[in-house]
Amino acid sequence: MKVLKFGGTSVGAPERMHQVADLVNNGEQNIVVLSAISGTTNSLVEISQFLYQKNTADAISKIDNLRDDYKSFVIQLYSTNIAKEKGAHLVEEHFKFIKSFTKDLFTIHEEKAILAQGELLSTALFQFYLEEQNINSVLLPALDFMRITEDNEPDMDYIRENLNKILGTTKAQIYITQGFICRNTFGEVDNLKRGGSDYTASLIGAAIGADEIQIWTDIDGMHNNDPRIVENTYPIRELSFDEAAELAYFGAKILHPSSIRPAKDENIPVRLKNTMSPQAQGTLISQNSAGESIKAVAAKDEITAIKIKSGRMLMAYGFLRAVFEIFERYKTPIDMITTSEVGVSLTIDDTSNLDQIIKELKEFGAVEVDENQTIVCVVGDNLAAGQGYASKVFDTFREIPIRMISFGGSKNNVSILIDSSYKRAALIALNKGLFNVETV
Ligand code: ASP
Repeated sequence: MKVLKFGGTSVGAPERMHQVADLVNNGEQNIVVLSAISGTTNSLVEISQFLYQKNTADAISKIDNLRDDYKSFVIQLYSTNIAKEKGAHLVEEHFKFIKSFTKDLFTIHEEKAILAQGELLSTALFQFYLEEQNINSVLLPALDFMRITEDNEPDMDYIRENLNKILGTTKAQIYITQGFICRNTFGEVDNLKRGGSDYTASLIGAAIGADEIQIWTDIDGMHNNDPRIVENTYPIRELSFDEAAELAYFGAKILHPSSIRPAKDENIPVRLKNTMSPQAQGTLISQNSAGESIKAVAAKDEITAIKIKSGRMLMAYGFLRAVFEIFERYKTPIDMITTSEVGVSLTIDDTSNLDQIIKELKEFGAVEVDENQTIVCVVGDNLAAGQGYASKVFDTFREIPIRMISFGGSKNNVSILIDSSYKRAALIALNKGLFNVETV
């Protein structure tokens, strides 16, 4: 069995949904994971913001507009009147539910229930379409098996046990389920955070021991550089799990950063495919690497660099532990670190507790903070031990001021911190310097 996940743009218009139906109805038994129709989750977030602000009028008008979009969607999605009516009824029910939250106190629980409606709608509408086309399919409610722990981590044992139990009792050619949504330990509706449908697909793939996990988007695989910023990028045919994880974490938007780990744990290949061009090879992510070389670069913005200068670090032990404990206490992950005898520089991207963190760090010495930084990450195999890679990378940064360098932490990655204003120049220089592609 394969797991096929389609993102919001892949189901973003009735004709795209028709195309997805053709792709999944390929004679094999598949589990199909869908995101919400593109734009829906953003709209639901906006509606929730209005409700937090007690701005009921704007919330209702936004709900009505979105409902009207879905009504037109349904008319074009189906060809028979019975299906059109069934679809319209479903849309009405979901929007009635969303509207019910305009009356009472609005908290994070209500917001999560509202956000879940996007995936619940897309999957139900798609399943009706398969039914209309006489394609043998069944809806697997993700809320019946997808669960997170108290630490917001997937509860893999629960997911494995319950999903396999459900699959054992329902037989179909195509199973359809919602990405993104889950329940928490209290049984409440929750989610795997924005962009989490890839993660759902990977968790399902790992839970059932799938033959392959396919992530279908609107680009033909992971590219060697950011196609939104530089021209003449190209898809990478093969990546190892570790290389793909670095790229996803450091900014390659095509894949949710957490989605590699479950697949890697169970050694299930992940294939990135393009709905607009299904014949294109895409990218295959597996335990094999295509060999020692630089594969790709990615960039992660909105990074904050923090430098702590302290005489107390000199020839002392326990200093770093004390510094890191502060970040741990504020549940703030650190991305890059460099040290010298008199100080340590590190980067974070979650600044929600920055003020408190700085206050506590000041007890150790002088603290400098630089915002608007970008981590440029060069990914490949054996970059740390292989010869000549570091000089090649640094050579391309001749004209760009470097704030920090991290090399040797993993054999797959060289990370360079620069001011975000140099990001475009850096990515263009890297395309020429590393991949010999001239771009503007
Ligand atoms: N619909 C959710 C979002 O927009 C999850 C996803 O698409 O992966 O974040």
